[in-house]
Amino acid sequence: MPPALAPLARLAFNYWWSWQPEGEALFRDVDPERWVACGANPVRLLAETSELERALTSDLPARARAALATLEAELAAPTAAFADAAHPIAYFCAEFGVHPSLAVYGGGLGVLAGDFLKEASDRRLPVVGVGLFYHRGYFHQRLDLSGLQHEYWTAVDAERLPVNLVRGEDGRPLTVEVELRGHAVVLRVWRVNVGRVPLFLLDSDVPGNSQLDRFVTGQLYVADRDVRLMQYAVLGIGGVRALRALGIAPSITHLNEGHAALAVLEMARATRAPGEPLATAVGRVREGVVFTTHTPVAAGNETYDPADVGRVLPGLARELGATDEELLALGRGPDAARDARVGMTELGLHGSRSANGVSKRHGEVARSMWQGLFRATRREDVPITHVTNGVHLPTWMAAPMRALLRRHLGEDWESEQDDPERWARIREIPDEELWRVRTELRTALVEAVRVRSVADRLDRGEPIDYVEAAAKNFDPAVLTVGFARRVATYKRLYLLTQSPSRALGLLSGDRPIQVVIAGKAHPGDEGAKQFLQTIFAMKRAPGVGTRVAFLEDYDLELARTMVAGCDVWVNLPRPPNEASGTSGMKSALNGGLNLSVLDGWWCEGFAGDNGWAIEGEGDLDHAAQDRRDADQLYGILERDVVPAFYERDARGLPRSWLLRVRSSLGSLGPHFNASRMLRDYVARVYTR
Ligand SMILES: *Cc1c(COP(=O)(O)O)cnc(C)c1O
Repeated sequence: MPPALAPLARLAFNYWWSWQPEGEALFRDVDPERWVACGANPVRLLAETSELERALTSDLPARARAALATLEAELAAPTAAFADAAHPIAYFCAEFGVHPSLAVYGGGLGVLAGDFLKEASDRRLPVVGVGLFYHRGYFHQRLDLSGLQHEYWTAVDAERLPVNLVRGEDGRPLTVEVELRGHAVVLRVWRVNVGRVPLFLLDSDVPGNSQLDRFVTGQLYVADRDVRLMQYAVLGIGGVRALRALGIAPSITHLNEGHAALAVLEMARATRAPGEPLATAVGRVREGVVFTTHTPVAAGNETYDPADVGRVLPGLARELGATDEELLALGRGPDAARDARVGMTELGLHGSRSANGVSKRHGEVARSMWQGLFRATRREDVPITHVTNGVHLPTWMAAPMRALLRRHLGEDWESEQDDPERWARIREIPDEELWRVRTELRTALVEAVRVRSVADRLDRGEPIDYVEAAAKNFDPAVLTVGFARRVATYKRLYLLTQSPSRALGLLSGDRPIQVVIAGKAHPGDEGAKQFLQTIFAMKRAPGVGTRVAFLEDYDLELARTMVAGCDVWVNLPRPPNEASGTSGMKSALNGGLNLSVLDGWWCEGFAGDNGWAIEGEGDLDHAAQDRRDADQLYGILERDVVPAFYERDARGLPRSWLLRVRSSLGSLGPHFNASRMLRDYVARVYTR
C-alpha cells in the first residue's frame, strides 16, 4: 500500500465508513468496476485493484486522511454518561447484519442486531457484540426455470475481509474451548470493528478440530438440529468464555433471542459456590442478564428432546455440578413432565432479570404465550415488556433523502432524530424538492431492476423476449410497489395473487402499478418454496412478465435499493404472527408509504393519513381471512393508492400523495429509528 493511501487501508478495517455520507465514495472512487465486482468489500478492493497509482494522483489521499481523522476522533471520544466503559453491555446474537460484504446474517434478526451495534457506536454506548463467524455464511438463492428455489453456499475468505483474528499476549491466536459430544472443541475469535463497537465472532474452523467440529460454525441456521444445538453452545458458552479470555467483564449480558441462552449456564458455572444449587446460581447471575424474544410463532421457539441435550452436551450437567433434572428444569415450564422437551426461549426467560418483545402488540402476544411458564393467573402479570424495534437511520435512509433533510432540518438533525419537533420542519420542504428525491430513488430502483432481472433471467435460460421484458418495460414514472421479506407462509405473499383478474387489472391499464418482489424461502420450508413456484408460473400472463420482477437472492444490498425506491411497501402477515417487521420502517424513512396489515410495528405506526391499513384481527378460518384481507388489499390499491399517485396538479406534482409522504416521514421518522430504540433499552431495560 503506498503510504499516502494508508489511511484508506485503516478505514477499510472499520465498517464505520459504511454509514458516513461520503464513506462509500471513498472506496468506489478508487476503482468503480472493481468495487462492484468485490461486493463492496473494501479489503478485497484494495488487494485486487490495479488503480492505486491513479488514486494517488487524485484527491483520494486527502479525503481518506480527513475521514480517518474523523474516525479517530470518534474512537477517542468519551463514552455516554449512562454507562461504564470498563463494563460494557455484551450483546449476544446468532447473526449480525452489519454490511452486505460480511455474510453472517440471514434476515430481520441479524439486520436489527447490526443496526443496534451501529447505533450504540453513534450514541457512544459501551457495547460489545458476540456472534458466530459462519465461514460459509447464509445460503444464496437461485430459481430454476420452473421457479423452484435452489440453495448454494459460498466460502468466505477471512483473509479478504475486514476482520482480524484476536491474538493473546503471546501473539498466538486466542482460543477458548467448549465441550461438544463429549470432547473439547477449540474456538478462535475474529474481531470486526463497527465504529466504536467491537463485534467478536467465534469460529470452530480451527486446524486440529475434527472435520465435523470445524463445520459447526459453517452455516447460519444449518438444517441439522444437533449441529444447531452445538452452535448455540458455541455462541452462549463459548461467547462468555471468550469475553473472559479477552478481559471483558460485562455489566449486562443482553441475549438477543434464545439462541444464546446457554450463556446463562456458563455464567452460573463460573460463579457458583461449591455445593450451591444450580437454580440459586442462575438466580444470582440473572440479575445481570436481559432477554429479548422475537418469535410469536410457536415453531420458531426451538425445543429439544432431553436425549438430544444428552447426546450433544453430555458433560454439561456435570460441569455445572448439577443433576440432569436440575439442568433440564431451566428449559421448561413449572409443571412439565420428566421427559418434556426443553426450550432455548424458556431458558432465556428463566435466566434473565427482564424480558421484552419487539413491539407493543408483540409484548401482549408474548405475555399470552408465556403465561404458563410464569404461573401467572392474569396475562398482565407476566413480566415481559416491549421495546419496539427501530432501524439505523444512516444505514437505511438513502443519500438523496439524507441530503434533503440536512438542508431543511439542519446540519446536526441526525443527532436529534428521535425528536418529533425536528421532523416537524418537513412541512416546509417544497413539494418539488420532495418529489424530485422520490423520483430519483424510484429511478435508481428501476435501473437496478432492469440490470438484475436481465441477469437473473439469462442465468435461468429464459427465452430472450422474456429476458428483456422487464428491462424494456420497467418504468421510472410508474407507481412502484415492493414486497420483500422471508417467504414464510405467515407472511402471505400469496395474497398478491389471490384474485388474478384484479391483480392483472392493476398491472395493466393506463394507470398501472409495477411490482418488485424478493425473498428467500427457508431451505426446509416446502410450502413456501411451492408458493414461490406458483407465483412464478404466472409470469406468462399478459402484463406480468413486463410489470412484475422477482429479484433473486434478497440481501442487505438489495434491501437498501428496494426500500429506497418503492413508493408503496406492502406487508401482509397473518396476525398476530409479525413480531415487529422492520423493512416498512426503512421504506418510511425514504418517503415510501406503508400498506400493511395492522400487526407488529404498524399497530403503533399507522395514524390514518400516513399510509394504509388492512384490519389486524386474527381469524381461525384462514381461508376466509385470506379472502377478506386480499379484498381489502386490492380495494385500497384500486380506490386510494393508484388515484392518489396519478392525480397531478398543473405542475405535474401529486399533491395528495406528497401530503401523505410528509405525514409518514414526520410521524414515523422520529419514532421507528434505532436511536429511539436504544434510548428505550437504556431507560426501560438496562437501567433499574
Ligand atoms: C430489514 C430486513 C429484513 C427484515 O424485514 P421484515 O420487514 O422484518 O420482514 C430482512 N432481510 C433484510 C435483508 C433486511 O434488510
